[in-house]
Amino acid sequence: MGDTGGAFGRRALLLAAAVGVTGSLGVGGRAGAAPARWAATSRRVGAFTVTPLLDAAGPFFLDRQAAFPAATPADWARARRLDPEAFGPGESWQLDFRCFVVRGPRGRLTLVDTGVGPDGSPAAAWAPTPGRLPTELAHAGIDPADVDTVVLTHLHEDHFGWSVDRNGEPMFPNARYVVQRRETEALPAGDAALAYVVEPLRAAGQLHEVDGVTRLAAAGRSGVRVVPTPGHTPGHQSVVVEGRHEQVIVTGDVLVHAVQLVDPDVAYRFEADAEAARRTRRRLLDEAGVRRTVLATAHLNRPWVELG
Ligand SMILES: [Zn+2]
Repeated sequence: MGDTGGAFGRRALLLAAAVGVTGSLGVGGRAGAAPARWAATSRRVGAFTVTPLLDAAGPFFLDRQAAFPAATPADWARARRLDPEAFGPGESWQLDFRCFVVRGPRGRLTLVDTGVGPDGSPAAAWAPTPGRLPTELAHAGIDPADVDTVVLTHLHEDHFGWSVDRNGEPMFPNARYVVQRRETEALPAGDAALAYVVEPLRAAGQLHEVDGVTRLAAAGRSGVRVVPTPGHTPGHQSVVVEGRHEQVIVTGDVLVHAVQLVDPDVAYRFEADAEAARRTRRRLLDEAGVRRTVLATAHLNRPWVELG
C-alpha cells in the first residue's frame, strides 16, 4: 500500500493535526432555540445544521487485521493517531454506529441512516443492540413525526434498524425514505433488508427510490443532495450538505475505519466490490481536498473529520 504518494502523505499529516482539534472546532454556530446538547455537537453549513446521533458503540466481531487484511503495521500506526479509540484490547476494533440529522430552514429535518435498531433487529446478530436513536432524537428535541426525509445510505443491517417499529410500521410516519434504486434492485432474494424495511416501506408508500444524484433540499446557495458512492454496496450513497464555501459529506460506509483514511486503497473485508469502493474513496477524498470539507462518519469514534 505504498503507492499513495507524497501528496496524500501530506494530507494525512494535515488530517492528524485537524482531528486533534476537531473537538474544539466541533461547536456549531448559531443554534437558535435548539437544546444545548444539539449546539454542542453540531456543525453549521450554510442554512443547514448537521448533528450526530450516536445509536450504539461496541467491538466488531472480527479482529481488525481480519477486517482489513491488507493493512500494514505502518497503516495501523497512522490510523491509531487519527482514531485511537478504534484500537480496543488486543487486536479488537472498537467502532461507533452513528446517524446524523440535518436541520434546514423552516424546521425541515433529514435523518441520515437509522442505526442498529432495537433488540431483535437484523443487526442484533452481530452489532450492539438495542440502539439509542429514539432517545438521541428526543434529546435533540426531534419528534419522529417531524422528520420529512430519511436517507438510507445503504441497506446493511446497522444502517436501517430504526426505520420501522416492531409492527413493521414506519418509525417516521411522515417521511419519504430515500434509497438508490440500484441498492434495492441488487438485494438478493431472502436478504433481511427486503422483509424488514423495503417491503414495509413500499407498502406504506414511503419508499422513494432514486437514480443517481438527487437534490433533497435547497436554501439560497446551500443545499442537501445524495450522491452515488458505490462499492461498499452496489447502490451506496452519501449525503452532501453544501454551503457557500464549505461542505459536510455524510459518508455512510465509504470508509469504515481510519485506516481507510490514511490509505484509501485498504479494502474492508465486506465490501461488495473492493475495486469500486477504492475508486469511490479516492474520488471522495480527492474532491474533499479541493474545498473545505468535513466528513461526517458513521463508524469512526468521533463524528467529524476535517479535510481541505
Ligand atoms: Zn455500517
